[in-house]
Amino acid sequence: MNNVYEVAQAQFERAANALNLDSKLRLILSQPKNELIVNFPVLMDNGAFRLFKGYRIQHNNIMGPYKGGIRYHHEVHLDEVKALAAWMTWKCSLMEIPFGGAKGGIKFNPREHSAQELERITRRFTHALGSNIGPDHDIPAPDMGTNAQTMVWMMDTYMNGVPHDRKNAVRGIVTGKSVTSGGSLGRNKATGQGLAFAVQAWAREHNFNLAGGDFTVQGFGNVGYHAAQILTNGGSTLKAVMDHTGAVRNLNGIDPEALLAHCAETGGVAGYARAEAISREAFFATRADIFVPAALEMQITAETAPLMNFRLVAEGANGPTDLDGERILLEKGTEFLPDILANAGGVTVSYFEWLQNRRAESWTEERVDERLLSKMNAAYEHMRAIAREHKVDNRTAAYMHSVKRVQTVYRERGIFP
Ligand code: NAD
Repeated sequence: MNNVYEVAQAQFERAANALNLDSKLRLILSQPKNELIVNFPVLMDNGAFRLFKGYRIQHNNIMGPYKGGIRYHHEVHLDEVKALAAWMTWKCSLMEIPFGGAKGGIKFNPREHSAQELERITRRFTHALGSNIGPDHDIPAPDMGTNAQTMVWMMDTYMNGVPHDRKNAVRGIVTGKSVTSGGSLGRNKATGQGLAFAVQAWAREHNFNLAGGDFTVQGFGNVGYHAAQILTNGGSTLKAVMDHTGAVRNLNGIDPEALLAHCAETGGVAGYARAEAISREAFFATRADIFVPAALEMQITAETAPLMNFRLVAEGANGPTDLDGERILLEKGTEFLPDILANAGGVTVSYFEWLQNRRAESWTEERVDERLLSKMNAAYEHMRAIAREHKVDNRTAAYMHSVKRVQTVYRERGIFP
């Protein structure tokens, strides 16, 4: 099954069945609350106008303001953003942070645009979203193709639309900002850091020595690079990396810093001199203890899973595994740290950033990391306790914890009118 929204639905249904969830809740949660699509014109550097299609999907806000990233990618489409928004609801609930779920994106390839065009696209999109976003209503963050600079442009555009005496109060309109413009220390690496904390929790439970272990990474952007860097610092060996330009392998180890420098210079991992170029199939077939998908959805499928031999898949990407891929790997005995846990470090530190903005505070990186560690460990323990008690896989267990919390709040509040 490769429709990303159907996969997200099936994952939810599995937990809903195990929880015997009310039918009215299944109905409510089967679709997002709001689906906003905007088409907006932007002036290009050559004087022509181009029309862009932007999305903001607000899945659920019973636990708090909608929260979720903004993706710039040429394959962004409605079902993808809907799936990503639903995953945010489950991720925030699993992490027990007071946010709901949302996601947004613009269908275009940011690599084909100058910084000036990217700024105009971002500002026009933010303007088009208008009051559909807000620091107590819906809070965007970076995702694929966007970064701290994108968030600062969004913040500045939003601030320009509010009265002078409210400007500083709305700094938390986005998270993942640069530290100088109100971001949090530790946010840039947070998703990779959270993933490493989750992997460490798994290693402790399994008595597995990470320092003697090895791993491969798909996607070498914000999540893939930081995860690789932190795991390598802990003594693990990075054996292969794949991105949109190709795949490279060195069984003796790849230095993430050197590879990052190469990517900064050339735009991708292809052509990296200190590793051999390999095919997509050879990348998936490279044996290692851990695989970290950190690129797009639907990468572990009926086609790739038969090639794969890993003890653990730690999902840095959202939705990297379809239902066939998951079944095949579970049958082989591979374990999963599901996306809603493994990549939740990003939204967790986004929450810390939002808190700091509200209180006009700035926390040290140590404080951020310490609080992130305790959140990741708590979520890991919740997931594992349910997995053991109900004899279900980690993903179903993580969803069960999350969906149950949402169910409790719906029961307490009732359904209006
Ligand atoms: P990014 O834009 O920084 O990097 C994306 C990487 O994926 C790049 O290395 C790119 O080359 C690679 N890629 C793109 N298409 C590919 C393809 N077809 N095959 C192989 N590699 C490909 O993005 P990011 O922020 O690191 O996000 C990566 C994933 O992590 C996404 O699924 C995103 O939703 C998820 N995620 C990101 C965050 C965050 O804080 N940035 C938080 C949670 C989850």
